[in-house]
Order: sequence, then C-alpha cells, then structure tokens
Amino acid sequence: MTKIKLHNTKTRRKEEFTPLDPENVRMYVCGPTVYDRAHLGNARPVVVFDVLYRLLRHVYGKDAVTYVRNFTDVDDKINTRAAESGRPIGDITNETIQWFLDDMGSLGALEPDQMPRATQFIPQMVAMIEDLIAKGHAYAAEGHVLFAVESYTEYGALSGRSIDDMIAGARVEVAPYKRNPMDFVLWKPSSGDQPGWDSPWGWGRPGWHIECSAMSYELLGASFDIHGGGNDLMFPHHENEIAQSCCAHPGSGFAQVWMHNEMLQVEGKKMSKSLGNFFTVRDLLDQGVPGEVIRFVFLSTHYRKPMDWTAEKSVEAQSRIHGFIEHIAQYGNLDNASRLEPETAIIDALCDDLNTHAAINCLSKLNGSGDADKLARNVVFLGIFDDKQLATRVAKHRDAHITLAAIAKDLQAKRFEAKDSKDFTEVDRIKHILTLANVSVRMNKDEVLLTPEVGFDPSKLGALK
Ligand code: AMP
Ligand code: ZN
Repeated sequence: MTKIKLHNTKTRRKEEFTPLDPENVRMYVCGPTVYDRAHLGNARPVVVFDVLYRLLRHVYGKDAVTYVRNFTDVDDKINTRAAESGRPIGDITNETIQWFLDDMGSLGALEPDQMPRATQFIPQMVAMIEDLIAKGHAYAAEGHVLFAVESYTEYGALSGRSIDDMIAGARVEVAPYKRNPMDFVLWKPSSGDQPGWDSPWGWGRPGWHIECSAMSYELLGASFDIHGGGNDLMFPHHENEIAQSCCAHPGSGFAQVWMHNEMLQVEGKKMSKSLGNFFTVRDLLDQGVPGEVIRFVFLSTHYRKPMDWTAEKSVEAQSRIHGFIEHIAQYGNLDNASRLEPETAIIDALCDDLNTHAAINCLSKLNGSGDADKLARNVVFLGIFDDKQLATRVAKHRDAHITLAAIAKDLQAKRFEAKDSKDFTEVDRIKHILTLANVSVRMNKDEVLLTPEVGFDPSKLGALK
C-alpha cells in the first residue's frame, strides 16, 4: 500500500499516515461562515483538502473515504447582514452556500461527501453541552453555558501555548458570568430578531466551536483520521474543539492528524474580511481569470507556506495550462488516457505531505517528454480539469487547428499573389486579424505556420470573411 506522509500540527512532525480503519478513512475540514462571497483566501483550504481527498480516494478507494466540511449558518455576522439588508437569515445563508459551491466548483474542488449545516444539528449540540455540564467541564450562568478551560489540563497542547500566553495573546472576552477569562461560550441567550432554539438554559443559540465537535461526532464518530483548516483556526477554534470533544468522549483521540494550511496574503498580511484587503473568487473569475488557473497557482506553492496571489503567477499558469492543452490536442487520445493510472512520480510527490509544487512540475516534465496521454490523465487527476472539461478544451483546440490550417493555406496563396502584384494590403489585413485573435503567425519561404496562443479567440476570425 502507498505510504502517505502528512505534517501533523499536533506532533509538529511529518508522520506516516495510518488510518484508524482503511476501509473508512475520515476527514473533517472547517468550512465557511456563510454571510458573503468567499474571498480568495477562503478558497485555499478548499483546494488543499481537495487534493488530499483525491489522494486518499486514490490510495484507499473512492468508497473508503468520507470527507465532511461544514457550513456555519448561525453566527452574529450573519445576523448583522440580515439586519442591514432587511432579508431573512435563511435567504442569505442559502444564497451564500450556493455561491460558495459554484465558486469552489469553478476551482475544480469536488464536493465533500457531507456538508452539514450547523442549524441542522442543534439538538446534538444541546446534548453534547448537557453531557459536558454533567461531566463537570461546563457550567451554566446567566443564560450562557461556558466551557471551564481549567477542567481540561491539556488545553493549549495543539498550538503549544500555555494558558498565560493565550490570555496575553488573544482578545479574551472578560465577562461577569465567566469563572475564568479563558472560558469560552458553548451556548448564549438570544433575544429579539436573533435566531434561537429552546434549550435547558432558555431560548438561545450555540457558540461557534461546539458545532464542529457535535457534527464531527455525529458524522464521523468520536475518533477519526484527519482534521483540517487554515492555521488561523488553530487557536482558539481547534483548541476549543479538542477540549469539548475529548472531555465529552474521554479516551477517544478525536482527530489523529491535524493539518493547517498557511494563509494567502496580500503584501505580507493575511487576506481577511476584517482587514478589508480581500477580493473574492468571483471577482477573479469575472475578470476573466479561469478557475483552473487559480487552482494551478494555488498548487504551485506548498500548503504550509504563505503565498501571495500575483498577476505574474496567473499569467505563467495560464501559459503552462495552454501548453498542456496544445500538446494533448496534437498528440493525445483521451480514451486511452482515461484508462491510465496516475503517474507514480505525482502520487509520490503528493504522498510527501502534499508536495503539489513538485506534482505540477511533473506535468511539465510529461509535457516535455511528449507523453500526451499521461499528461491528460494527470491533469485530470490533479483536478485542473475534469474529463468533460478537458475533452471540450481539446476539441476546441483541434477545431482551431483545422480552421487555422485552412487559413494558413489561403494566406500562403495570397502571399504569392502579393509578391507578383506588390500589393500586400490583403496579407497584412489577414495577419492583423490573426494577431487580434491571439494566433501567432510565422512565415518562411515555403509555408505559413499559425498557432493558437493563450487567449485564442476564434470568434475574431469571422472578420476574415
Ligand atoms: P472563515 O469563514 O473565516 O471561518 O474561513 C473559512 C476557512 O478559510 C477557514 O479554514 C480559514 O482558516 C480559511 N481562511 C481564511 N482566511 C484565509 C487566508 N487568508 N488564507 C488561507 N485560508 C484562509
Ligand atoms: Zn471547526
């Protein structure tokens, strides 16, 4: 069996991955809070864990992997958005969830097996909170329920911080009903327009952290294999998830491997809504940056390194992908390609803590060495295109070559005429139109060579008629 190595935040080491049950490999990734379009940073964990999902499915089998990613659809930011816009909360969350799925689909991300919404698991959260109170890890006070951090001695182990460091480093909310300023909210009271549910502590709503503990327990069990998210979630969100889950289910390990992607940055700072330095995935798509290009740029940097989005990276990715398609269109056979296994060098690269940079360089090597079928198979394996998209692209390029071959023949004839008549107006007109359509024009004594370039636009060729 192929050995996967993953960097585990919990142990701070790259370790060989051994699933608890190879027939049921389980992964949970913290998903978005749904009140607005996803910014480009939000897409990073989606693409990173999509690559891991594909690798796990390859190694253990498609039916042997369960990937869960939640939607946080109860949150004060959503309430604020609803109040500002006068729209019902459910409209906002449904609309945002669909946007998210569409935008992430454009980046080639497969949908997880389960996408639970927090509001569908309130009874399970209430039950878990009751259990934590009964076990002496939580207490009710003034309509709130708080987790008693001092009751869990390993609090802070994931991020390696002491409680004093955490108090100093985080904006810890001091409140009269808290026994310790580090205690965090499991349940809080709702009033007025705020969403709420009946509970033993009155009308209220859950805190953020409890949802992931309750939903991962329901869908994956008390112990599962991999838990992922951005490294901004390590503290407090993931520390709190661990505290809740390990105290509710003593003896279970909760997640065996913790994986955290580094941040997408803008000029050295995390891209985030609160800093205002963000643009959305939709913005980029609308500007004409194709989804596969965004994915390719993400894959070019290792997930544990910070990365910037730059226009240069996007241009380079576009040209590399264009080169792949050209090569496949000329020499590939997609039926043969689909029967191939993914390339060993690519699997090996991904097995080395998701070395996606090396994996996409293998694509370039396949391109250079001329094996178009292998190239096609691995472009699909890495999710740059799915089979259907690749077939469409390749067909488009092949059509373009047929059209361009006819134009080249015509242009060659016109060159001969022009040499006699000394009138090059028509030849220049054709060359100009071809350039506008992003076709490179090369001529020598015997022939005209026309090649579609990045941004090739066949609709512009209509002007030749
Ligand atoms: P949020 O909706 O803010 O909870 O974020 C959803 C997911 O996006 C989480 O896994 C975050 O860690 C991740 N995330 C947020 N900002 C960034 C960023 N700038 N770069 C990479 N991941 C991010
Ligand atoms: Zn979470």
